[in-house]
Amino acid sequence: MPDTALKDRKDATSEITLKQQLVECIRMLERSDIIDYNGHASARLDGNRMLINIGSCQRSSLAVADICTIDMEGNVLEGNGKPPLEFHLHAGIYRARPDVKAVVHAHPKWSTFLTMVGESYQPVYAQGSLVYPMPVLDSPNSINNTVMADRLAATLGDRPAAMMKSHGAVTVGKTIVEAFVLANYLEENAYRQYMALQIGKPYTFTDEEVALCREKLWTESLFKRTWDHFRAKLD
Ligand SMILES: [Zn+2]
Repeated sequence: MPDTALKDRKDATSEITLKQQLVECIRMLERSDIIDYNGHASARLDGNRMLINIGSCQRSSLAVADICTIDMEGNVLEGNGKPPLEFHLHAGIYRARPDVKAVVHAHPKWSTFLTMVGESYQPVYAQGSLVYPMPVLDSPNSINNTVMADRLAATLGDRPAAMMKSHGAVTVGKTIVEAFVLANYLEENAYRQYMALQIGKPYTFTDEEVALCREKLWTESLFKRTWDHFRAKLD
């Protein structure tokens, strides 16, 4: 087989795997109450393309047919529907961050509560410290144009996550697993911080403790275990 044909076949196989993983990611986010009938996740493909769930799909029963391929301008290259209006959020991050291969955006409750009242995200449990310090976009507006997308990407900078005031959160990763797991850690930390605030002032990890967590917990094996934990509940 010629080299180009072999490469095409390999690319097609990896795209199918990525699509399947993206479906699982979105369904697990829905089961975890991180996304509902909104929210989206994407995976970068070569040639300035990405896989993303179509805007109108049912996240709870998502299938591979609900994933479309678009370019960075939102043109549908393949698929059965249109991308979400906030596809700009994904495109803006992929433009600004060559290291990012996957993006999750959701409107989860607990972390958004914090931004609604200007309470900063604090590392109150070990896994949650992986996304600390947390930048916050100072606007509740939808990321449905390139101006807002560039603003969000600038807020995110080189961080793995950002929150958006009275709107939601975004996590990024080198893989779909990373982006999913970080979204989970972020929301769990926000939940614990919110609940602890009801009965007192939560202890927040010191810089040294955050550094130690990062060293011990940012591992492929823990990320996989976290993914597998939620994956096992799917069917
Ligand atoms: Zn949004």
